[in-house]
Amino acid sequence: MTHIFGRSTRGQLPTAVAGDGCYLIDASGKRYLDGSGGAAVSCLGHSNARVRAALHEQLDQVAFAHTGFFTSDPAERLADRLTAAAPEGIDRVYLVSGGSEAVEAAIKLARQYFMEIGQPQRHRVIARRQSYHGNTLGALATGGNEWRRAQFAPLLVETSHISPCYEYRGREEGETIDAYGLRVANELETEIERLGAESVMAFVAEPVVGATSGAVPAVKGYLKRIREICDKHGILLILDEVMCGMGRTGYLFACQEDGISPDMITIAKGLGAGYQPIGALLVQGKIYDAIAAGSGFFQHGHTYMGHAMAAAAANAVLSEIEENDLLARVRTQGEKLQAALEAEFGQHPHVGDIRGRGLFRGVEFVADRDTKDPFDPARKLNAKIKKNAFDAGLVCYPMGGTIDGVRGDHVLLAPPFVIEDAQIDELVSKLSGAVEKAL
Ligand code: PLP
Repeated sequence: MTHIFGRSTRGQLPTAVAGDGCYLIDASGKRYLDGSGGAAVSCLGHSNARVRAALHEQLDQVAFAHTGFFTSDPAERLADRLTAAAPEGIDRVYLVSGGSEAVEAAIKLARQYFMEIGQPQRHRVIARRQSYHGNTLGALATGGNEWRRAQFAPLLVETSHISPCYEYRGREEGETIDAYGLRVANELETEIERLGAESVMAFVAEPVVGATSGAVPAVKGYLKRIREICDKHGILLILDEVMCGMGRTGYLFACQEDGISPDMITIAKGLGAGYQPIGALLVQGKIYDAIAAGSGFFQHGHTYMGHAMAAAAANAVLSEIEENDLLARVRTQGEKLQAALEAEFGQHPHVGDIRGRGLFRGVEFVADRDTKDPFDPARKLNAKIKKNAFDAGLVCYPMGGTIDGVRGDHVLLAPPFVIEDAQIDELVSKLSGAVEKAL
């Protein structure tokens, strides 16, 4: 009998007892290749020696000192390192405990910023239908994932959702990629004009969409146009890199590949790499300065923000990424993973799209490749793939998002940055077996 309130209880799931690089090991000794880092979390794999040592060392000094009274070396050091590596103009960091907290903080900070600069009428958020920004009420309202929102809809603040940038499903026949990117980006301007620009405070988007549809990157040029539109109308651009940030795409921040600098960035997951729960909101100096010159205080906070142990883990994660040149490795291993997926599934009659950036890849399954019709949800293809893969010793992250009424079956792959070539082959071969068994 267990008292954990969750999706499952002891007896229904194996008990994880150890980690070994890209593998997790259960109580029976069975090894699982962690093909998705849980939910794109374990970017260094399991049982990393440097992170373990950093945690021991910090624990011997001080584990926690409340940020209302103290700062700590690891928190200060982490903030310095993150801002040094961040896109231009980002020079302040707000440390929290996870992704939803980072998104909540971003939304509240946007609101307070406009209050402080004398634009109190700005309160609306625009986001995209194909998105997930977290499960707390503000973050849930921002996200466009219909399944996650449905039963809580009456509790959610009204948010506008425009089209995603989802080339596989959205680009029309004969339309160039550039024209497609511009068309969907311009929907933001249409929505701003419909709402009245003076009432809009922020646009929120994931540069590479994760949990809703399996590693869907914005096409080249899309985010540049989004940046222009936000600037033109005085609206803050908040990029949610909780899943795609921290090197997952081969850049420390995914938007660096798109060549833009947002007003705020949220990160989490890979920041603590699963060793500690930690998230961060990174902010342009102008936002901090407005508040510093005004009320002097961001009216927000959580007990565990700036936690010394969490920051110590994140510093060790950053050191691993820097000293082992893991961003370059993510790019090369990511290309190999894409090539291996294409070799295995490229001609598959039920695989419509294989996409992503770096070690953040998605495979989309369809009933019919020509029409792109999805499978009947009653078939529960996702759940079957997940189970078959798990039985075979592979952790992958399958999901079935609904975009504009079209339900898709996808598998998200986000293996540790240290994945070896042979493990890429193992991943693809186990996934292939799981898919064939499920179809
Ligand atoms: N934002 C994005 C893009 C996410 O993928 C997630 C989680 O999957 C969140 C926010 C929420 O993060 P957390 O589960 O740490 O609260």
